[in-house]
Amino acid sequence: MRGDDLDAEDKKASLISEGKIFVSPEIRLPFPLSKSTAGPGTGSASVALSFDGTRVKLAVKREPCRFSLAQDAEGRFSILENGRQFIGEVQVLKVPAHAPDQCFVNIHSHCIFKCAFCNSPRIKDTPRTTKQVADFIIKTCKENNFSAIAITSAVPETVEKQIDDFVQVVREARKALPGTAIGVEPYAETREQIQQLKDAGADEIKLNIQAATPEILANVCPGFNYEKSLALIASAVQIFGKGKVTSNIIFGFGESDVDVQKCAETLASLGCIPTLRALRINDLNRATLKEALGFEPKPQEPERIVRLAEALKGILEKHGLTTKSMNTMCAKCLCCDLVPFYDL
Ligand code: SF4
Ligand code: SF4
Repeated sequence: MRGDDLDAEDKKASLISEGKIFVSPEIRLPFPLSKSTAGPGTGSASVALSFDGTRVKLAVKREPCRFSLAQDAEGRFSILENGRQFIGEVQVLKVPAHAPDQCFVNIHSHCIFKCAFCNSPRIKDTPRTTKQVADFIIKTCKENNFSAIAITSAVPETVEKQIDDFVQVVREARKALPGTAIGVEPYAETREQIQQLKDAGADEIKLNIQAATPEILANVCPGFNYEKSLALIASAVQIFGKGKVTSNIIFGFGESDVDVQKCAETLASLGCIPTLRALRINDLNRATLKEALGFEPKPQEPERIVRLAEALKGILEKHGLTTKSMNTMCAKCLCCDLVPFYDL
């Protein structure tokens, strides 16, 4: 299908499904490329683009592929699909800290867990102290006038130490930036740890259920416990409030649409906003995913990405939830998913 026959959400789903874009070295980008140590683009240079009121972040390839970024003589950008116009007006976004319009930082990359899809433990990152992380947040927010902070971390030694590091960073950021929304994405094991993050000054929290079913979770995230995660998410809603808790459900592990919808329904019934995330496969995680799943996963079809996002919107509406209640992290960023109430 030609680009001009598609809606914005279909185009975005196609870009998410493909996950990458060719950017010729001759193109004059207004901002440096982003390099992330967490999230779907971990380990690769990426570019954040906006079009039709939404955004997408794609891995940058230096050799031609299906999608490419084009620039005309006046410096305006567009996206081509196999050399033909796909999206006419595109802006390249400034991303000083992983996500547009927010300062998103990763405290630690090394992890005691071995989630099959996650590249964070596989990349070499220079360790920073919590003071250095907090200073970076404060400086970046002030320089860019950001109104949102997001903090994530792997679990480098123990869960307690990781939570302590979160608490220190959140406290410092909250003290220096009292009016800025702070979202945290920890790995937590107890209700008390979630309360500690709230008490430190966090406004929103993401606790990832990761997979749609307990069976898949056991394969892709050994060490995670599905039922325990659900109980913690319920506690987080009591502590942070309905609509202030979110959770990633990654799809593409061989689960059915019904599995994804059931999991989303369970989370929404607790007052949590699920983030439906299409699995991104790349050179760093391909082999471990194949080993964990017993088959080689494929990129998610754009049609499935749209279908599940539409189903999620219905589930959120049914439970009186909206992605617009979140002021930080992925529901605000929009770069990696079709986000109900923004994209459709
Ligand atoms: S807990 Fe899993 S998803 Fe999170 S950083 Fe560690 S390996 Fe990655
Ligand atoms: S949607 Fe989430 S994971 Fe993706 S770039 Fe934005 S903040 Fe990062």
